[in-house]
Amino acid sequence: MTQTDSKFADSDQSSCNQPSASGVLQDVHITHPSQSCFMSSIDLHTHFSYQAMVPEAFAIVMAPTDQSRSYGIFRLSDPGGMSVLKECEESGFHPHGEPADGSPIYEHCANVFTNTNLRFEIFDLR
Ligand SMILES: [Zn+2]
Repeated sequence: MTQTDSKFADSDQSSCNQPSASGVLQDVHITHPSQSCFMSSIDLHTHFSYQAMVPEAFAIVMAPTDQSRSYGIFRLSDPGGMSVLKECEESGFHPHGEPADGSPIYEHCANVFTNTNLRFEIFDLR
């Protein structure tokens, strides 16, 4: 992870989405304090706006009680997932159809390199 100024603000549906000093747009949030690690429909819509502005943007979902995966780094598939979200006019929690190209709506972000030597700070503003 390259960001150094991420902030965790609160539990359910909390997020801090802001461009960092390095210009990296980030979407770090704890949406699932007691749930599994996945992108909800609200997460997808939130991240869509960031990925539409910066195609390299990714979302980090923290799910500390998920025994199989406590965090995930995700992005919308492009063009599949991006097209679904662009056309969707619903709000709140709702299901999405599959992208026309057969891809998943979102995927694990394989192009993020985690460097454990980089400084990473988390500010809990609760
Ligand atoms: Zn939707």
